[in-house]
Parts: sequence; C-alpha cells; structure tokens
Amino acid sequence: MKNMLDGIQNTLLLGAGPSGVAPATYYALSRQSIGHLDPYFIQIMDEIKRMLKGLFGTENDLTVPLPTTGSGGMEAAFVNVVEKGDKVLILQNGTFGVRMTDVAQRLGGDVKVLEFPWGTPIVPADVEAELKANKYAIVAMVFAETSTGVRNPIEEISAVIKANSDAIFLVDAVTAIGGIPVKVDEWGVDVCYAGSQKCLSCPPGIAPITFSQKAVDKILNRAAKVPNWYLDMSMIMSYWGGKKRVYHHTAPINMLYGFYQALFNIYEEGMENAFARHQAAHEALLAGMKEIGWEMLVKEGYRLPMLNALTVPEGIDEAAVRARLLNEYGIEISSGLGALNGKIVRVGLMGYNAKLESVDRLVAAMKEILA
Ligand SMILES: *Cc1c(COP(=O)(O)O)cnc(C)c1O
Repeated sequence: MKNMLDGIQNTLLLGAGPSGVAPATYYALSRQSIGHLDPYFIQIMDEIKRMLKGLFGTENDLTVPLPTTGSGGMEAAFVNVVEKGDKVLILQNGTFGVRMTDVAQRLGGDVKVLEFPWGTPIVPADVEAELKANKYAIVAMVFAETSTGVRNPIEEISAVIKANSDAIFLVDAVTAIGGIPVKVDEWGVDVCYAGSQKCLSCPPGIAPITFSQKAVDKILNRAAKVPNWYLDMSMIMSYWGGKKRVYHHTAPINMLYGFYQALFNIYEEGMENAFARHQAAHEALLAGMKEIGWEMLVKEGYRLPMLNALTVPEGIDEAAVRARLLNEYGIEISSGLGALNGKIVRVGLMGYNAKLESVDRLVAAMKEILA
C-alpha cells in the first residue's frame, strides 16, 4: 500500500496561513506523550500561559491555548460573552469581520454592523459617532484583517471605546500575534483570541485566548449557561488554573509541545527582533514586487507586514501565476477572497518564513514567470 505521506512536497508556505514551521517545533511535536494531568505537563502548561501573556501584552490570569483553530477561538470568544439579546457592534472590513457577524447572530445577539470598504481601515470617527448614538454590550473587530492586509487602527479605536462606552471590547488577533505588537491591557481589550498557524509558526490546531476580569465577571454572571459545553470558559478555567486541576477534556499533549516550542522560539529570538524581522521582509517584498509593476492594495500606514495584498496588474491571470509558483517553484501564495478574488494575491510573510531568503525566492520566481 502506498503511503500518501511520502508524497508531501517541501513547499515554501507564503500564503495566508498555515505558515512555515521551524525544525525545532516539528521535533517538539514528535516527543514522548505524557498524561494530561502529569505534574510535569502542568508545568509546561504554566510556561505556555506565561509566554502567551507576554505575546498578548496582558496580565490576565485567564490566558489559555484552546484545542481548536482560530475560528474556534472566535467561537469561544463570542459564545462566552454574548447573551441572547445583547447589543453587539461589529466593525467589519473583510472576511473575518463577516464571520464575526455570523457567529454573533447565531448566538442571538442583536447585531449591528458598521461596514467599511474592503482594503480600507476602520474609521475611528465613525465608531465614535455610533457609540455616542447607541449603547452596546460588546464591540468587536479584527485587528489584522487577513483577507485584505489591513492593519486596523486599534490604538484610536480603543481610545474611542474607552471614552464612549463600557462595552466588552472583543478583538481578533489571529494574524497579528507574533508578527506585530498586541497590547491587550494597554488597549483595554476584554477578549482577544489568536491562532497557532500564522505568525506563531506552529501547525494549525491551537487557538490562544485571553479574558479580562470584566469579561470573566460577565461570564460568571450570565443569566443562562454558555450554550456550548466544550468552549465554556467557566469550566475550562478549572483545568488551566487554580491549585487543583480538574479534568475537562484531554489536552492535545503533542500539539501543546509544538505550541510551547513555537512560543519558546519567539522568546529566544526576542519578540521585538521577531517584529523587526517581519517588517524587514515586508519592505523587501514591496521593493521587489514594485520592480515588476505590482502595487499594494492597502495605503501606507495601514499595511500589515505579515500579510501583503498585491494588486494584480491588468492582463495577468493570477490563478495561473499561483499554479506555476506551486507546481514549478514549490511556493504557495494565496488568492483574494470574495469581491477581491482575481484582483489581488496575498503573500504571507509569517513567522519562520518572514525572512529575506523567502522574499528573494518568491520575487525571482515571479520575475521568471512574468518574463
Ligand atoms: C486565519 C484567521 C482566522 C481563522 O482561523 P482558522 O485557523 O482558519 O480557523 C480568523 N481570523 C483571522 C483574522 C484569520 O487570519
């Protein structure tokens, strides 16, 4: 019988995720499994929590890696703090904002969407006007919108929320974490989730999440139970915290080894150095692609270093270019989503692959393909 795994290619992952994985992280995934209540495993859990707090920029005690993907983190964030009839404001300017709206509506939230054109940032003055006009229980936004490459101006939005609302501030940091600073406490974010397979460079399967005391109080004072057993943080709290750890689910031991190592790698390099490396790779890509006539979709000042949306020049079939990149050069990049499909490509410079060698390989291949 043929083993399918023998056919896996050594692809350079420069798409919207998953990103490349460091050899040390692959090795960590293959280590000996131990029990999920083994005291040594609990020490590893505590170290993961400590490192996560640093990356989230928070002192929140309830900061844990959930056994799910980024979307599961989104689900966990909303299902815990949204109660039936809660007024929820979603600041939406891309695919993941649309997903937030869907999640909040399914939970019975009274959802209002403030929509901004895809490829442009959320406008803080519009948020301010909305918060002055209406009272909300929850305000939610995506910090790094992976579908468009926009870095939403969270500093200004945070200031507007602090001045005009006592809502729970819920933020998606899936693509941001590990690539640009995330400052949960400074920005007054109450619920923030991320994913393992973007700039943290771990395979997909872990969604770190953090809750402020204000969010925890809302969870503990809900009128009805969280309508999802598996993601109910009031139960997960007692497995990940406190003196006596109580069984909730079997933690994915080896996945958490990998996740531990991925965080360890970032701490060894230094968070600031990792951010600078993402920025340097982004600038090199910009320069290289400009030479062949490809421009950025997003205006300067709002561009994400780890997710580069490039406008496809007139007359070029981007799907054919991507296919050749993958088949002939072993490089994966991503298409545009929704209305941007066919109009942009998305180049991810995330985590382990956010380096000049990756950029050089991609730009050289693009030059050959387009020649
Ligand atoms: C990738 C991503 C998600 C979803 O994560 P999955 O791991 O694909 O479930 C959510 N939000 C943003 C901003 C993302 O980039």
